[in-house]
Amino acid sequence: MAPYTSSELAARIKELPRFPLAHLPTPVEKLANLTRAVGGPQILVKRDDLTGLAFGGNKTRQLEFILGDALARGADVLIIGAGSQSNFCRQATAAACKAGLEIQLILQHGVKGPERQGNLLLDELMGADITIVNVDSMHELRPLFRERADQLRALGRRPYIIDPLVDSAALGSIGFVNGVLELKSQLDAARTDIDTIFVAAANMTQAGILVGVKALGLPWRVIGIAPILFAEDRSVDIARIASQTAAVLDLELTFEPWEVINDPHFVGPGYGLVDDAARHAFKLAAKTEGLFLDPVYTSKAMAGLLAWAKDGRLKKDERVLFWHTGGTPAIFSYSQELMGP
Ligand SMILES: *Cc1c(COP(=O)(O)O)cnc(C)c1O
Repeated sequence: MAPYTSSELAARIKELPRFPLAHLPTPVEKLANLTRAVGGPQILVKRDDLTGLAFGGNKTRQLEFILGDALARGADVLIIGAGSQSNFCRQATAAACKAGLEIQLILQHGVKGPERQGNLLLDELMGADITIVNVDSMHELRPLFRERADQLRALGRRPYIIDPLVDSAALGSIGFVNGVLELKSQLDAARTDIDTIFVAAANMTQAGILVGVKALGLPWRVIGIAPILFAEDRSVDIARIASQTAAVLDLELTFEPWEVINDPHFVGPGYGLVDDAARHAFKLAAKTEGLFLDPVYTSKAMAGLLAWAKDGRLKKDERVLFWHTGGTPAIFSYSQELMGP
């Protein structure tokens, strides 16, 4: 028997503060042409690139619960940071606009720096306060968030830090627990099922999916493909976030690292850098389905799916749902990398 029913799980989620942002449910589609081109598995896609807010993406689901918490705490300004082409910062900026909050972005220079294109262009157009700094990691950004928060508090403001790697993680994951409920009801309505989920993930997305799948007792395999090489084993952190998420929802579930598959073999030369496998995957989806992946996350996840199909880790008749996590505005800052040599 499943640990929790769909309505029990939905009721737990309903108790949390939530600021609606996403157009849900996002569509599920069969990718018949891509399936044929690959020769199996059977590939479906969940279109979280169509969550609706400022060109969509997976962070919109997460931000519904993060913003819910920020508003419940009376915040008046959000602080967030990542790479300069961050999808998270773009969606957080749009969420702040809708919630009537100010937002301050502290961005790593990263691969793309201050080039006013893609996500950074959109951040500017939405009126975010932007600082670009020369640091190499989120760990170096974190003290800058705190420093900025202290400065704002000294001015009488009520800052709220969105830190995807720590405090905000369990809240954000709940967006994907809800996503699993949504997907299950879509599959039930279509009288179909899946065997495996493939998703570009390093953090809240996979944790939330794992919580939803385990809570409902679904037999689905969840395969995360990492967009970035972390120094530490990612499955440890994802399991920890999943356990925290379950605790926030008052579910009696815990997660161990061995339960988490997060494959780091498709990062290529590094975070935000496009290799041949990612470029091939990106173009294959575009040419067979008119479906746009993104250069930093989903093209690498699709490269992973193609490799797993090729070496038999995905069976020919397996039903694989590719959870498209968005990121498409970054395409416009990656024209050369995507066109290739
Ligand atoms: C942020 C992001 C991810 C990863 O989400 P996590 O919750 O950090 O695992 C995947 N795909 C896209 C397009 C993203 O922007």
